[in-house]
Amino acid sequence: MPKQVASPPEGGDFIFSGLPPSPAQKRLAGVVVLALLSFFLLVIAGPFSGIQLGRISAFVPAYVMAMFVNDLITSILLFSQFSIVRSRAILVIASGYLFTALIVIAVFLTFPGAIATDALLGGLQSTSWLYFSWHAGFPMFVIGYALTKDADGNKRLWGGTVRGGILLSVALTVAVVVALAVICMAGEPWLPRMRLDSVRLGPQWPYVGVPVSLLSVVAIMVLWTRRRSMLDLWLMVVLCAHAFEVPLTYFPAQIIYGVGWYAGRVFGFLSSILVLIVLLYEITTLYAKLLAAVLAQRREREARRMTGDAVAATIAHEVRQPLSGMITSAEAGLRFLDRAQPDAGKAGDAFRRVVADGHRAAAVLQSIRAIFRNEVRHRTRLDVEALIRKSLALVVGDLQRHQILVHSAPGKSLPEVHGDRIQLQQVLLNLIMNAVDSMSARDEPRVLQVSSEPYEGDGIKVSVADTGAGVGTQDVERIFSPLFTTKPDGMGMGLSICRSIVEAHHGRLWVDPNTPRGAVFQFTLRPGVPAAA
Ligand code: ADP
Repeated sequence: MPKQVASPPEGGDFIFSGLPPSPAQKRLAGVVVLALLSFFLLVIAGPFSGIQLGRISAFVPAYVMAMFVNDLITSILLFSQFSIVRSRAILVIASGYLFTALIVIAVFLTFPGAIATDALLGGLQSTSWLYFSWHAGFPMFVIGYALTKDADGNKRLWGGTVRGGILLSVALTVAVVVALAVICMAGEPWLPRMRLDSVRLGPQWPYVGVPVSLLSVVAIMVLWTRRRSMLDLWLMVVLCAHAFEVPLTYFPAQIIYGVGWYAGRVFGFLSSILVLIVLLYEITTLYAKLLAAVLAQRREREARRMTGDAVAATIAHEVRQPLSGMITSAEAGLRFLDRAQPDAGKAGDAFRRVVADGHRAAAVLQSIRAIFRNEVRHRTRLDVEALIRKSLALVVGDLQRHQILVHSAPGKSLPEVHGDRIQLQQVLLNLIMNAVDSMSARDEPRVLQVSSEPYEGDGIKVSVADTGAGVGTQDVERIFSPLFTTKPDGMGMGLSICRSIVEAHHGRLWVDPNTPRGAVFQFTLRPGVPAAA
């Protein structure tokens, strides 16, 4: 079978085992440790420490089941993190949680009175020795984790397959637990006596219990010097709970089912659930982030689609006018040639118009890119009056067909402005053709007035007024949005393009109502900076 090659842990920066703890998490961890310490001192030295609470028969099975489920889920989640980041350290700590999940079952089977009156398996000493194995084993897994973590930091990741790594770890962990269980159960007669009977602990208990507890302290120190991630932080808290739990079993009173013993189980439970809570919290947070990322990606795709639509619509919109001009001129040219006596002069004029329109279409196509980049490509000194005349001349056919009367009032002594002639001609053509469309829909006198005047000292204002349908107050802003149209064959790009062109020239484009009817579109031009030669 081909081996999967270990790759760098790309997801490591997003998951629990790779993320550094936030200051809030550090504070929370500090509060938890302080709370554990206070609870520990209260139980050890408090007035209730010696009280024998009595046996709650359902307690041990419920406790064991809760510990088993917690630790098993934690280990599964950590194994799945290993499959993402391929860190051997995660494999070690996942095995540590599997170890605790399994050994707690062994403890249960030997616990006097948990299932049968006596231990189901093993003898009186088995429970204590399995308990010690459990509480010594877990810190050793943590030490293993901390030491391997540094090696992983130097990119020495798991080189085999993910499945192989998990299977090997599970097999080894099960083997260790089975070996410990066999030693503690079958070898019980030879083990030092930790219990006097089913409820009393013997005087030798602390000689093993204290070093076992100290092993957790050692693990904390090893981890402390190598701490980096959220996982490290919470493992240290778990080890604190472990370190407190072991002495609680013996020191207030050497009895099972005493206040200290029950408190020890609370510590045990807390230590088992802490990492699980943090892992679940992390999964929920990641899920929320994933959802946000998917939604953002969807929005971006939609925006890109809209831009694509807008580009396509713009090209179609802007090229339509010169194209129809070319068709009309070419047809006229052909008609002049098809006559019995061809009129080469007029045909030549018509074809020259075709060539001019062709050049205009090419220039328009070039400037579309600039429109979408919001830039002015060829800034030259503008003769606004000449631009108005040229634009009106280009649409004279449409104006005549719709019987539109044109008033063009030349502005007196206009200030000098600079801009892109092709782009501003597109603006004028769009505004004039919109006025034509609006007026041709009504059977009333059609007057188009195109004028220019000085504006605020050094600027120019150009107005295109019509006597058409006018723009409703609800639409005065909407009409400038891309793809907004009220025309059956409209594309809704004209005004949005006009506005971006005018704004790229540092001007403004807006609409006002005309009197007695219709609309006045006005735009301003600023002196601007002449382009460098
Ligand atoms: P299109 O001409 O393809 O509809 P535009 O962006 O040029 O796209 O215009 C958008 C809308 O603005 C038009 O559909 C029309 O409803 C309105 N509009 C534009 N110019 C005028 C005008 N002169 N009078 C009345 N309405 C207008």
